[in-house]
Amino acid sequence: MERLQKVIAYAGIASRRKAEEMIKQGLVKVNGQVVRELGTKVSPSDSVEVEGVKLEKERKVYHLLYKPRGIISAVTDDKGRKTVTDLFPEVEQRIFPVGRLDYETSGLLLLTNDGEFSYQLTHPKFKIDKTYVARVKGIPTREALRQLERGVMLEDGKTAPARVRLMSSDSKSGKAIVAITIHEGRNRQVRRMFEAVGYPVQKLKREQFAFLTLHGLNAGESRELTHHEVKQLR
Ligand code: URA
Repeated sequence: MERLQKVIAYAGIASRRKAEEMIKQGLVKVNGQVVRELGTKVSPSDSVEVEGVKLEKERKVYHLLYKPRGIISAVTDDKGRKTVTDLFPEVEQRIFPVGRLDYETSGLLLLTNDGEFSYQLTHPKFKIDKTYVARVKGIPTREALRQLERGVMLEDGKTAPARVRLMSSDSKSGKAIVAITIHEGRNRQVRRMFEAVGYPVQKLKREQFAFLTLHGLNAGESRELTHHEVKQLR
């Protein structure tokens, strides 16, 4: 649900202040009824008319981005840093990231203007698998990997079971590459899990989200999801 004046402003009809004036003047109808109350909230299924003209519904869009490191997973940043939506200068819709990746994390991030879709993909009860590849300091022992799999105790509780695979290790540099699949999405979860077992993450990339991969994309590039992919994710 959104405030009526915001919906009118976002549709590009008028500034928010002008939209408020129009509402007060009785120029706005919701589902055929004049509404003069500024706090009125409307949902995407409501029909909004301004001076007899119906607002077009924004087309729902779904983008898959290979997020580079050093960029914020947000729509705006109060410190003026570059955000993921800056990578979509051509997109007219008001897209926002589905969940987030840390500033220093790269990898697969979805962006959409579909709030319900985003909710379904980020709420823990839907248990969407996300696979990360981490470069860690030190070579994790089998016991440490098993601990990650079973769940580790963090400040905000024990993590759910995960799938963990040691992909490579280099005793000379004392580093290892580990793939981990989790379905929770707590803040900095993967970094905190590795930290908890004594192997700090030096580099982190999300390789997979549900069945989606970064196949065919370079860092900073994106593509739209197909109808079929959107349907499969719901
Ligand atoms: N876990 C992290 O620690 N960072 C991310 O960006 C995503 C998952």
